[in-house]
Amino acid sequence: MATTGKSAAVSHVGKVRSNNQDSGYAGQFLFVVADGMGGHAGGDVASAIAVKRISETDRLYSSAHDAEFALRTALLAANSLLAETVFEHSELTGMGTTVSGILRVENKIALAHIGDSRIYLLRDTVLTQVTADHTFVQRLVDSGRITAEEAAVHPRRSVLMRVLGDVDASPEIDTTVLETRPGDRWLLCSDGLSSYVSDEKMHLALSTIPAAQAAAEKLVKDSLDHGAPDNVTVVIVDIDESGDSAHVPPITVGSAAVPLVFENEVVRRPMRLPSLLLHPLKAAQPDDSHFEPESDDYLTALILEDRRREIRRRVGWLAFVVIVAGLIIAACVIGYEFTQRHYFVGAQDGRVTIFQGVQQDIGPISLSHVYKTTTLQVSDLPAYQRETVEATINADDLDDAQRIIDQLTSSRKP
Ligand code: CA
Repeated sequence: MATTGKSAAVSHVGKVRSNNQDSGYAGQFLFVVADGMGGHAGGDVASAIAVKRISETDRLYSSAHDAEFALRTALLAANSLLAETVFEHSELTGMGTTVSGILRVENKIALAHIGDSRIYLLRDTVLTQVTADHTFVQRLVDSGRITAEEAAVHPRRSVLMRVLGDVDASPEIDTTVLETRPGDRWLLCSDGLSSYVSDEKMHLALSTIPAAQAAAEKLVKDSLDHGAPDNVTVVIVDIDESGDSAHVPPITVGSAAVPLVFENEVVRRPMRLPSLLLHPLKAAQPDDSHFEPESDDYLTALILEDRRREIRRRVGWLAFVVIVAGLIIAACVIGYEFTQRHYFVGAQDGRVTIFQGVQQDIGPISLSHVYKTTTLQVSDLPAYQRETVEATINADDLDDAQRIIDQLTSSRKP
């Protein structure tokens, strides 16, 4: 394929999903990633419709602000198109898609973003996330309720607050105009990359692999190496002195690259028999990356759920600590009782003594104590007996200890 090597788009279904609901586009001036959602039907349709509609803006604009306006208009048009499609195909109700895209105008880029796909900029060896996720957990982070580290593993991290779809007629889209310089490398990706590949690994691939295509392929491979539970789409755009980052010819990847499989008839996606047999529950479960309409009630419910989870977590931890402490104490008591069934004969203050317990100590804790001091002086014993007493002599029981004392007494030096 003829490419200039200044941009690349790669998409992969991943290792778990049965279809690719992501779409990507690398064209002359426009670069887009879209991640569709909507359960068994709709996600792939949503991202494909959005990317096809937005790709119509791929041309040279006289200013970056014109490009920004064109991008925003195209995203809103895609939103309307999705609503119309759902109106005609009710089985697609609830479908939606993220969109993150940039339009290059010489040394500037216009950017539009909605959802949790991401745009990063690698500049002077520093990788920066340019977009903010429109997710429930990002809201919790912004309001100081949880940290970014907690957000990364939060069970509700895939809940999106804003997407294009059939819910909101005028969704809130982030747009901006940014300066770009020769040497900049832009990365657009779906959460199939950013949720599973660390920033360090992304930085490594982007900063060490010069060719855009090879870098994009390496990032997709990194995600596959992490198990790739989600579809993964990567678009890379390199900026050089030429002012041209075009992918020649433009390339579409993911679900937008294949014909839409519905016309006017009802879309009935065949349920794949093996997956149904292997994962009967999974087949019935909704897609985990799903869109929930934005409402205060819903947010409140999620926040309450989050608090309950935190309380459950703390109670669970406390119970664990109590149980472990109880087990340790029980083990100590049983162990100590066990040692106290033993006796040995040794020396104490120069006299032969019966000790209860065992000779070993656990740190500062002695596991034996004097049971009975005899009148027998160690110095009265012959050399060999004296040494064995000083080294201590194990007894089977108390009677045996007494027997040892008797023997020692009879061996006394005359
Ligand atoms: Ca995804």
